[in-house]
Amino acid sequence: MTSDHAAGRDQATGRAHAVLRSTADLPAPWAAVCGASVGVVQGRWDGPRGRESADPCPDCLRITSG
Ligand SMILES: [Zn+2]
Repeated sequence: MTSDHAAGRDQATGRAHAVLRSTADLPAPWAAVCGASVGVVQGRWDGPRGRESADPCPDCLRITSG
């Protein structure tokens, strides 16, 4: 379920990654489901800052789509 993920952003590339909700409350940096390290978590993955953003991570899209 995509609602289990928060939207993370790689500040170096601007690419959006999915971060598990269960880890989103931990201190930065976060590990995205694809393994990337992200420095910002901002809102839902299933939203304009996540999978609907201009540059969502293809690996995170595939993983969160099941
Ligand atoms: Zn990713």
